[in-house]
Formats: sequence, C-alpha cells, structure tokens
Amino acid sequence: MKARLIEKTALAGVIDKLREKLPVYAPVREGRRVHFKFLGEGDTVQLEYGNSGNAPKNLFFPHTETLMRFTRTSRGHELVDGGPSDAAREMVLFGVRPCDVRSFTLLDYVFDQDKYTDPYYVARRRATTVIALACVEPPYSTCFCTSVGGHPALAEGADIMLTQLDGDHCLVEFLTPKGERLAELFAPAKEADKKSLKRREELVEAAVEKIKSEVPAAQIKDWLDENFEHPFWDKIHQSCLGCGTCTYLCPTCHCFDIRDEEEGDQGIRLRTWDTCMYALYTQETSGHNPRPSQKQRWRQRLMHKFKYFVDNFREISCVGCGRCVVNCPVNIDIRKLICDIGRLMEKGEEE
Ligand code: SF4
Ligand code: SF4
Repeated sequence: MKARLIEKTALAGVIDKLREKLPVYAPVREGRRVHFKFLGEGDTVQLEYGNSGNAPKNLFFPHTETLMRFTRTSRGHELVDGGPSDAAREMVLFGVRPCDVRSFTLLDYVFDQDKYTDPYYVARRRATTVIALACVEPPYSTCFCTSVGGHPALAEGADIMLTQLDGDHCLVEFLTPKGERLAELFAPAKEADKKSLKRREELVEAAVEKIKSEVPAAQIKDWLDENFEHPFWDKIHQSCLGCGTCTYLCPTCHCFDIRDEEEGDQGIRLRTWDTCMYALYTQETSGHNPRPSQKQRWRQRLMHKFKYFVDNFREISCVGCGRCVVNCPVNIDIRKLICDIGRLMEKGEEE
C-alpha cells in the first residue's frame, strides 16, 4: 500500500484532474444540505461535511433506472436496447464517509452473489473507483458505526482513503490496484513519513472515543430468533406514518419494484426503489397482504437488518449512519429500539 501526503489546498486541483478524465460523483452543497451528485459546471466538492442527505448507493443502485426499451410488434415484444453494457462506464465516487463505503460491501452480498447477480449494479460497482474520506471528527451524536462492525476510518470497500490531518496536509492511501491507477493525479505529493502515519492512528483513535452512541446491535439476534410474537412488537410502530423516509435514506436498504410502461407500441422496463414500510409493497394481485399492519412492517424492518441478513450473510444490515434517526418525522429512533431489546434480554437473563 502506498501512502502520500498532499497539501489540503491541492485537493481542489486533484478533483479538477479527476473530472477531466472521468465522471465524478461527489458531495456538493445544495441549500442547507450536502448531497451526492455528478459534478457539473461550477459545482464545488464539500470536504468539510458531516453525513450527506442522500446515501451514495444511488450511484450503483439508482432510485429509478430504465432496464430496457422494447417495442411491440405482430410477433410480440422485441428488445430495442438496454442491459448492463449501458451502465458500465468508468466513474469516480469521491469523498464517501466510511459508513457509506461499508454499505457497498453489504449491498454486494445482495447484488453480486454467485447464484444471483444483478448485472446493472455489478457493472457500475466494478467500473467505479471509490475514494473515501475518514471521519476524524465523527459528524453527529447519532453516529453509531462502531456498534455495527464499522469504524470512522474503516477502509473496507474503498480504493483510496483520504485522512485530513491537522495542519496543512491530507494523507492519501492507495489501497487497491484500481486506486493506484489514479495515483499520478494526486500531485504534487510526497511520500508519507512515519510521523504522519502515526498521527493518523492517533486521530482515528480519538475519533472512536468521540462516538458516544453505543447500542447492543450485535447481541440482539438471539432474542429476535426466539421472539417473533413478543408483545414488544405491539407498540414500536404506533407513531409511524409509513412514509418510508427511513428506508429511502438508508444506505443499506435495497428493496425495489419493476414495472413496464408502454405508450403506443413503445415501452420501457423501469426499476424503482420500494420500501417495506409501505402497505402496497407486499400486497398481492389477489388483494391479500401478508403484512397488513405497520406493526408487521416495522417488525420486518428490524428483523431484516438484525436477524435475516445475519442468517444469510453473517453481517448486520445497518452501518450506523444515523440518517433514519435524524430524518424520521416522528422521531422513531432505531438505536432506542435496539437498546430496548437489549434491556429485555437482560431482564430475561435475571428471571
Ligand atoms: S421515517 Fe419514521 S414515520 Fe417514516 S416510515 Fe420510517 S419510522 Fe415510520
Ligand atoms: S438503519 Fe438507519 S442507521 Fe442503520 S444504516 Fe440504515 S439509515 Fe443508517
């Protein structure tokens, strides 16, 4: 692994060089919020941001995408164009926080399996170089990455890691061959000395200490395994509006719907995000709905993240970004629910 030091003031020039070469998807301020988007004329990348409003998973798994175009002929439906080749252009994802980078490795379990491969997601993911930005100052009191297997400087899933040191320099670590291919653009730079590498470790250790939100996320699966019908589920959904905000902003949620839209003899097949918080998500054509109440939908949300995903992939499907906590209009806090289950477990052990 190569590590270099670059002046912070030179990073804007690096971004300009990247965007001359490739499309760059990066955090940009829009009004009060910072959002990931493809850089256009006049856009300035935000390096001093907390967590972005939208999760950057949108780059690999867009909110809405056309999977194919077709035409209706006397012989039936015929493909006009589409397929993953449309999605495989080389790109750079710049300035992603480690929790969001980790979400990609969790989404990979779903979309890039030996048995089921989503060619649209996989083509974009493989064609993208991910440049992460370590959290030397964890942005919010709602961050809890360290409770779900993450870390404010975890490099898993990144090709290049940037760490802003105190003073004038930024440490740049080239972690994969894909990242090293862009090394020449990070100039002027010098080899990182031992002092800088040690300072990075100190800053990261201090960042871990600053994350005060701790939840027993790794412990609750045993309780979830045994308590599908527990009265706990009767209350947690009561104020939920079923708006879906929590799932649409979540970097690890990945439910989608596919539908065909036709006009005349032309048609498109669209994929759009969907959410388990909507009643219609599970409604069958017959009208039967296996999850008819918000209680069942909320149970599904927790079960999926902390039990079913662990059963299937041995990982919790939450990276502790806190977006659902910050943005729920009725202040439902997933951390509190996890802690409530932890308390039920303690109580059960005492009895
Ligand atoms: S954001 Fe809050 S109100 Fe909306 S669906 Fe999620 S838990 Fe319910
Ligand atoms: S469940 Fe909430 S805290 Fe966890 S990854 Fe999703 S949005 Fe972030």
